[in-house]
Formats: sequence, structure tokens, C-alpha cells
Amino acid sequence: MRVHGEKVISRRKNIETCSDYHDYLPELREDFQHMCGYCGKIEAITKNAFEIDHFIPKKYAKEKENDYNNLVYSCYVCNRKKSDKWPSKDSKIQFVDSKGIVDPASDDYDSHVERRENGEIYGKSEVGKYMVEEVFKFNLRPIREVWQLMKLIEKKKQLREKIKANMEKNIQEYLEMDEMLDVLEDILFENKE
Ligand SMILES: [Zn+2]
Repeated sequence: MRVHGEKVISRRKNIETCSDYHDYLPELREDFQHMCGYCGKIEAITKNAFEIDHFIPKKYAKEKENDYNNLVYSCYVCNRKKSDKWPSKDSKIQFVDSKGIVDPASDDYDSHVERRENGEIYGKSEVGKYMVEEVFKFNLRPIREVWQLMKLIEKKKQLREKIKANMEKNIQEYLEMDEMLDVLEDILFENKE
């Protein structure tokens, strides 16, 4: 299963350039579907605000500070864990041996990290293992519980909708029945039955 489940993350093209990357937040949030690019956590299950991460850290790519294509919508924990990790320390070199970080808004992300049926995230490749164990520490975090909670929240929403829909129907049915009872009782009374 993919880390992002059925959601596909991609950054929009042709975005107007901003001189302060914080101004991209509404678009970034939408493009990442209100979900952490790295761990797939949705906003609804955390009290910590989501943040804007620089995929290639500012420390190694000052020129990309306000480049939309270098931004990742990230949960507080992933952003802290990643910090300014970038194995090559060179913005032009993504991988050194089996160490490196993959952009979660690229198809490549799925070829390095994947989710098990129980929700855990594991590394499919050596780079993926590096990301899981050394960068985001998914193996030490309650990632499975995050996933289960997300599934439950989704299920609860669906159930709530179903209950709401049926409740309305039942109320309508009840009122119609009540009206019919009144009509029949009146007819019987008038006919002295
Ligand atoms: Zn995260």
C-alpha cells in the first residue's frame, strides 16, 4: 500500500512566485491534501500545527528558500526529525551510497517507502530504509496507530452521514404516519365507528 493511501500528492505548476515562502501555505496545504508529505498523517489527528519544510534544507540551498518546488507540507514531528539532514551536504547531489531523501511529491517516493496493511511504514529500498530508520524514525513512532486512527476517523464520518440520512428519513416517516393516524381517527370519530 502507498504511504499516502489513495491520495496522490503533486505540486501545482505555474504558481506565482512569492518572496516569502510562508505565503505559499494555502496552495501547499491544498496540493498536499491536508496531509503530511512524509508520513501521510492528516491534520485532523494532531494538535500540533503542520509546517512548511524545505525538502533540500535552506542550509544547503539558500537559493531555493522561496522555491515552491522545494517545499513540503509536513507534520511537526517529521519536520523535527528531518531537520537539516541532507547526506551529501550538496543541493545538487541527492544520494550518497544508499543515503538520501526522496521528494514525497514525486512518484519516486512510492518506490522507496511503502505502508504495510497494518499501517506501518517500511523501506523498500536501501534509501527507503535510511529514510525510515535514520531520518523520520518511522520505526520508533506510533505510525501504525496514526494510520488506524485515520481509518477510524474516516469510518466515523461515513457512519455519521449514514445515521444522519436515516434519521431524517425516519423522522419524515414518523411525521407522515402521525398525520395519517390523525386523519383516520377523525374519519372514524365522524362516522361514529
Ligand atoms: Zn509526518
